[in-house]
Amino acid sequence: DNQNLFAALRAAFPANLDEHAVETDNGLVYSWRDLERATAMIANLLQALKLPPGSRIAVQVEKSVEAMMLYLATLRAGYVFLPLNTAYQSAEIEYFIGNAEPAVVVCSTKNFGWVSKIAFKAGTQHVFTLNDDRTGSLLERAAHHSDKHEIAKAKADGLAAILYTSGTTGRSKGAMLTHGNLLSNAKVLKDYWGWRKGDVLIHALPIFHVHGLFVAMHGALLNGSKMIWLGKFDPRLAIEKMREATVFMGVPTLYVRMLGERTLTREAVSHMRLFISGSAPLLIETFNDWKERTGFTILERYGMSETVMLTSNPYQECDGERRGGTVGFPLPGVGVRVMDDQGQPMPVGEIGGIQVKGPNVFKGYWQMPEKTKEEFTADGWFKTGDVGKIDERGYITIVGRSKDLIISGGYNVYPAEIEGYINEMAGVAESALVGVPHPDFGEVGVAVVIAKPGAQLDGEQIVAQLKSKLANFKIPKRCFIVDQLPRNTMGKVQKNLLREAHRGLFV
Ligand code: ATP
Ligand code: MG
Repeated sequence: DNQNLFAALRAAFPANLDEHAVETDNGLVYSWRDLERATAMIANLLQALKLPPGSRIAVQVEKSVEAMMLYLATLRAGYVFLPLNTAYQSAEIEYFIGNAEPAVVVCSTKNFGWVSKIAFKAGTQHVFTLNDDRTGSLLERAAHHSDKHEIAKAKADGLAAILYTSGTTGRSKGAMLTHGNLLSNAKVLKDYWGWRKGDVLIHALPIFHVHGLFVAMHGALLNGSKMIWLGKFDPRLAIEKMREATVFMGVPTLYVRMLGERTLTREAVSHMRLFISGSAPLLIETFNDWKERTGFTILERYGMSETVMLTSNPYQECDGERRGGTVGFPLPGVGVRVMDDQGQPMPVGEIGGIQVKGPNVFKGYWQMPEKTKEEFTADGWFKTGDVGKIDERGYITIVGRSKDLIISGGYNVYPAEIEGYINEMAGVAESALVGVPHPDFGEVGVAVVIAKPGAQLDGEQIVAQLKSKLANFKIPKRCFIVDQLPRNTMGKVQKNLLREAHRGLFV
């Protein structure tokens, strides 16, 4: 039978197709019938192009319901969806399009000039436009096609999407995800997070990334749930919409921004059921503040482009409490182990490299067979590049990325540990610790700290306070107070930029 992910999503549409599937922040309403018809028309358009099997449809457009329809139509037609971050400029787009060799490129009208030039140079045959106001050649062309479409046959191990990683640690890699990867994960999350009849999701995330495109969108669709669609995140509006919603998913910065709004009260969230955070570490302070202000315990989970979701704090109380600072337990069907550099398992509570296995783990990096081979162990586990530990109760804690690990005088320094101590100090909002070259120690830590509004901080005092608490090799040699940390669009701190900025301090 047909393992096409779209077939499973389509089967979950409510019986009454006139019900609302999506309501947008600019007053548009889409029924399930609208989704069915528009995805059929776009799928028919794509198939009329007679593209070779496995063709990539590369898409760099502003967030819109039509962009979601294009994703669904690509699955429906049996092609491979390739979303691109809207922030990418010409040098980046040139790399992605050159690397992915898409048969079709879809971009916004305002970028058509330069994007089409890059695309045609790379051998792309078709460039369409799509804007966030329902204009553009894609929809114009699709309008000439039938609204009836038979879902293309797909195998579980057939490619559904190529998702480029966020590029936090280096150049982005294209993670090849199959229909089976995405569907198995979506099903597990539907059960684990207790999706139920009547749930309404606030969709506030970008849709070029695993969080908004897969976790949030598949969650609502597979449950036949309505989405309240925010084109851009606005904390005030998100809080207002919570009166009609039950589920919210966000990166930590979204929670921080909502906490900055007076309108965030227990009463404002009384209709809600679940708040989920991921994509970057949630500060324990944000976790606590949210609990105090709303009465809700944020559920933190952990995943990546290559694997979709891996671990989650429990939803149901009988499975345990949601513990701030941890990412919970492996999801059902997912294997997680912590290993040393020699490939031996670490004892409970000890820090090592996180490796994973499961039906959700990707097929490999697009056009990077060597890199793919390096990142899998001989017994088939994927090396996530994250460093962490598992406690005796099974809770997993991420302490950083292996690339951010600092080796000072031969000792391992785990940034998250030191950052945790700094963040607890009075007046500190946030911090980041990076390693920079040092003639005696090889590497030493440098702390970059953000003060809370109104607070005065002194870098030397922070270092002095740490000295009373931690072993000498863990003490940052310098501490800078700055206004903000460099972040990418998913709110991830770009430690590579901090390292670059401070690499000349001691050498
Ligand atoms: P690149 O692989 O290109 O360097 P990236 O790893 O940031 O970029 P993504 O796939 O978007 O790209 O992000 C996955 C990473 O995000 C994980 O490997 C992990 O480091 C981090 N992450 C996700 N969820 C959490 C979480 N709850 N806590 C801490 N880190 C998280
Ligand atoms: Mg990564």
